[in-house]
Amino acid sequence: MRFEELSGYFLELESITKRLEMFDILSEAFSKADKKDISKIVYFMQEELLPPFFNIQLGVADKMVEKAISGAYGTDINAVKAAYKKMGDLGEVAEKYAKTDKKSSLSVSEVYDDIFQIARISGEGSVEAKVHSLSTLLKEVSALEAKYIIRFVMGKLRLGVGEATIMEALSKAKTGERKLKPSLERAFNLCSDLGHVAEVFYGGGEEAIKKFKVEVMRPIRPALAERMPSAEAIIKKLGKCAVDQKFDGFRAQVHKDGNEVKIFSRNLEDITHFMPEIVDAVKLLNHKKMIFDGEALTYDEDTNTLYPFQITIQRKRKHNIKEVSENYPLRLFVFDLMLLDNTDLMNESYKSRREEIDRIFNQESTISKSKIIITDDSEEFTKFFEETIGAGLEGVVAKKLDAPYSAGARNFNWIKIKRSYKSLLNDTIDMAILGYFKGRGMRANFGIGAVLGGVYNKNTDMFETVTKVGSGFSEEQFKELRKMLDDIKVSNKPARINSVMVPDVWVLPKYVITVKADEITRSPTHTCGQEGGIGYALRFPRAVSFIRNDKGVEDVNTTHEIIEMFKNQKKVELK
Ligand code: ATP
Repeated sequence: MRFEELSGYFLELESITKRLEMFDILSEAFSKADKKDISKIVYFMQEELLPPFFNIQLGVADKMVEKAISGAYGTDINAVKAAYKKMGDLGEVAEKYAKTDKKSSLSVSEVYDDIFQIARISGEGSVEAKVHSLSTLLKEVSALEAKYIIRFVMGKLRLGVGEATIMEALSKAKTGERKLKPSLERAFNLCSDLGHVAEVFYGGGEEAIKKFKVEVMRPIRPALAERMPSAEAIIKKLGKCAVDQKFDGFRAQVHKDGNEVKIFSRNLEDITHFMPEIVDAVKLLNHKKMIFDGEALTYDEDTNTLYPFQITIQRKRKHNIKEVSENYPLRLFVFDLMLLDNTDLMNESYKSRREEIDRIFNQESTISKSKIIITDDSEEFTKFFEETIGAGLEGVVAKKLDAPYSAGARNFNWIKIKRSYKSLLNDTIDMAILGYFKGRGMRANFGIGAVLGGVYNKNTDMFETVTKVGSGFSEEQFKELRKMLDDIKVSNKPARINSVMVPDVWVLPKYVITVKADEITRSPTHTCGQEGGIGYALRFPRAVSFIRNDKGVEDVNTTHEIIEMFKNQKKVELK
């Protein structure tokens, strides 16, 4: 496919207001693509060069883009700057100065490869080299292409396309129906790379996608836990189950291939460099190939106690990792095993995966295992839970004994119960920021007084509003928030937001915050779970986190979870 044609689809996507239109455009674009281009088209739609675990950033700043435009079109740099100030979008500036009659014949892959090379340039003189390469590329393309190339390299394509829509559209493009979405989703859950999945699908069709398997060094999308309020409820649901200690540290998915080790976070970023002591310990394990899941925490080897989470989290901010790892070493508590040498354990039962864990790991080393009991007695369950939180841990996770590893899914194969659940609303709620309201009084100075928060409806792939949050942010945070949100603001409601409330400024769903509230109530103001015009809303919400970098917007709480919390909250009140 030519990049010019893809740019035409970007242009169409810019003006739509409904998710269905987005689906139609993507299906058409994908149906015109061949195996050679499809992964790149998918990455462009996802607004990334590669998935986050490849750790490749574009790193093209405003100033560099201004210079590249000026160089490409021979326009005075001050004119470029002035136009940017006026138009607020360097993509449009490039479009304005590009020669409008220029037609390009570059393919999607050629443009992608050029941008990839620009991202790879590093070291001394890299700024000039990047500007030069970008400028050269701009000279070769049309005005429309220039607009989207610039937006893409600046991370401002703002199409708002979600993974679910991409998978549905890929299925439609190849088979005429959406029916292969579940198979594509399964493959995506196993490798976390939609471009790769699309390429395999275009190469080998339905058969190849159904045969898709986990591969070492490609992160598996993590299994997640549902929540329930009591041991009794969990035993009723699962019968005899394993009760596993719940640690509060960094989730770490470890991949080992001989002497090579990689560690991925909850959000599938490559965090190997944060954990040198874990890497060294993994290298010593007696198996060539392994993929396992665990939680890493700072552990005091002298007293056999865990340090508080605040100490563990410091690791992410420090630069002197080597020194920190000597003073505050991490211990990894393994709680699942997905691949062992040439055996894929994903579809084995939890019970047999755990037996392998018990065979391989002990409870005294840098790579340790969590402690579990197996029971169908709620009193025994509660006793273990009390002992666990008594030891300073966060709670327990109950595990269904015959369940496979549910990659990328939150279901009742794992059920968490935490110290804080007296009523379910003592738990926090993660939500996506969908827009903001300009403040009144004091906050008018920051130009932001509250944000519109939404949860994710998995069935419809839409974000539904659940509350407006104005408290819990410091002045500094409000200022920073304003800057971050202005960077992703859009003039109309994005196609994947369902809202009756209209904020002063809409933003593309990108950032996640964690909120605490007193109660969930029924309300006509919010669209979460809306039926007959009445939805669910949070009462007295306050932010308890700033932007959560460890979560993507599709990882926020779901509409379904809010409804469950609402029901359980009623049960607690009745007691
Ligand atoms: P979630 O990760 O479920 O979206 P969250 O970020 O709020 O939600 P929690 O509700 O605290 O996290 O619990 C889930 C997390 O608990 C897992 O992602 C994992 O990092 C951690 N965890 C700790 N111990 C275990 C264990 N034994 N089994 C499974 N997960 C565990």
